[in-house]
Amino acid sequence: MNRMSVLEVLASTAKELDARDKLAYLRERFCIPAGRVYLDGNSLGVLPRAMTKGVVQLIETEWGEDLISSWNSHGWIDSPERLGERLAPLLGAGPGQVLCTDSISVNVFKLLATALDLQPDRRIILLEANEFPTDRYIAQGLAQLLGAQRCEVREVASEELIDSLTTDVAVVLLSEVNYRTGRRHNKRLINDAAHHAGVMTCWDVAHSAGAMPVDFDATGVDFGVGCGYKFLNGGPGAPAFLYVAKRHQNKVNQPLSGWLGHQSPFDFERSYTAANGVLQYQTGTPSILAMRALDIALDCFDGVSLTALRDKSVALCAFFIEALTTQCEFESLRVITPALAVDRGSQVAVCHPKAYAIAQDLIERGIVVDFRAPDIVRFGFAPMYNTFNDAYEALNALAELLKYETYLAARFQIRAKVT
Ligand SMILES: *Cc1c(COP(=O)(O)O)cnc(C)c1O
Repeated sequence: MNRMSVLEVLASTAKELDARDKLAYLRERFCIPAGRVYLDGNSLGVLPRAMTKGVVQLIETEWGEDLISSWNSHGWIDSPERLGERLAPLLGAGPGQVLCTDSISVNVFKLLATALDLQPDRRIILLEANEFPTDRYIAQGLAQLLGAQRCEVREVASEELIDSLTTDVAVVLLSEVNYRTGRRHNKRLINDAAHHAGVMTCWDVAHSAGAMPVDFDATGVDFGVGCGYKFLNGGPGAPAFLYVAKRHQNKVNQPLSGWLGHQSPFDFERSYTAANGVLQYQTGTPSILAMRALDIALDCFDGVSLTALRDKSVALCAFFIEALTTQCEFESLRVITPALAVDRGSQVAVCHPKAYAIAQDLIERGIVVDFRAPDIVRFGFAPMYNTFNDAYEALNALAELLKYETYLAARFQIRAKVT
């Protein structure tokens, strides 16, 4: 087959798959910029259609008119707890274990400190060498604060993870889905191995929540974190969440002991008494505008089966990977995302020496992707709103730019601050 016919076949396959997609109706819940294919929902989710009206209403009536009484009358004060409970079903978590607050970075700090405190005779925080930087930086910062006697960060290659669960390890901090490769860990397998070795687990589900079922309780997760602005579509800088398994609650105090994690903040007591359960993981005043935005975004998940979302995500990635790995148009690209669906998340990562320029060329062609140093282009597939035709459009643009080498143009070589 010549180039056109390969792409024609892909186009018609995509059309058929879209016609059969039972979740296609969900796309209507979002504002998708016209003329663009958005494949970056794993970095910043798109704008939910109901957002503007909902946030404006909060501003005009709750803030504008009811002002400070809204902390009580509109339940502002309870929003971290209430949103935590709203997120819990998306995380496979029973009640009283999830709190919506702060950023992943801050939450990782609180949870690693908790894990170390729960195990005074263990001092190692174990990480994968290719972990998302903030998780590593925070672990390093905590280790520095506590001193080498008490805490040290140990980084190992993914393949060495299980063998590295030694008797000095307090906690292993892991992303379920790797932000670069899209490789997905088996949480149950690692939790079982960790617990067998007396090690606690802290899972970062930044790239899982909202794209697939996240089974925190059923797989025996000890601690968890994730963010609101990726597949949950809560908007730039949306509040993050944390999970503390019931069995680890009320035993130690987390170190960022702010007033809103106090048992009774409005008694203004001189000394700190931690609130019950997961509520002590709140530190300061929540951003109500951001909390409401996430709340509105979560409405989009009402009535949506997470299993169906996962199935669609798997199918989108499979369609994309299949084309990239079997058609000679794409032979200069190397797919580093696992071929096996259970081993991957909801993105496809490809390597190329000119990955940055290719990403810029794609963006100029209306295919919004991102670049991760040194040589990765990421294609994020958000099953809530992406279509098989989106995947086809990306393939078509890729084939075109590779064939004519348009990505070599000088303007595609200039690095921006955010990539
Ligand atoms: C996006 C992402 C974060 C972001 O952390 P913030 O503190 O919320 O900015 C953290 N970890 C992983 C794995 C991520 O993908």
